[in-house]
Amino acid sequence: MSETTETIFSKIIRREIPADIVYEDDLVLSFKDIQPQAPVHILVIPKKPIRKLDNAESQDHSLMGHLLLTVKRVAEQAGLKNGYRVVINNGDDAGQTVHHLHIHILGGRQMKWPPG
Ligand code: AMP
Repeated sequence: MSETTETIFSKIIRREIPADIVYEDDLVLSFKDIQPQAPVHILVIPKKPIRKLDNAESQDHSLMGHLLLTVKRVAEQAGLKNGYRVVINNGDDAGQTVHHLHIHILGGRQMKWPPG
């Protein structure tokens, strides 16, 4: 079983706090990051409250695929024709601060490598 917990993202899913939503379907929600680290910074989350990538299970197989395909759709919708970065911070060493799985889409500027 995936460990579940209440986070600020659960409140966004339930519309209890506002967010700038750019895409939604039955399984996923996508909204602008409140503290953008690039000209375009959008998050894609599953509605299912999976705490982090490590907590995804085999039963989440199609959901995980849908999340990535949603990243592609949202990036295209945002006009990121020249590329973009996709980031998942998984756990403490990665700096994950919100314990609900989310994928960052960062674009609109040249990204550097390695990341910090
Ligand atoms: P992470 O460090 O990977 O856990 O990223 C969490 C992200 O959620 C950060 O980039 C935050 O700026 C973002 N964030 C936190 N609260 C909100 C919110 N209410 N609306 C939109 N983005 C948020």
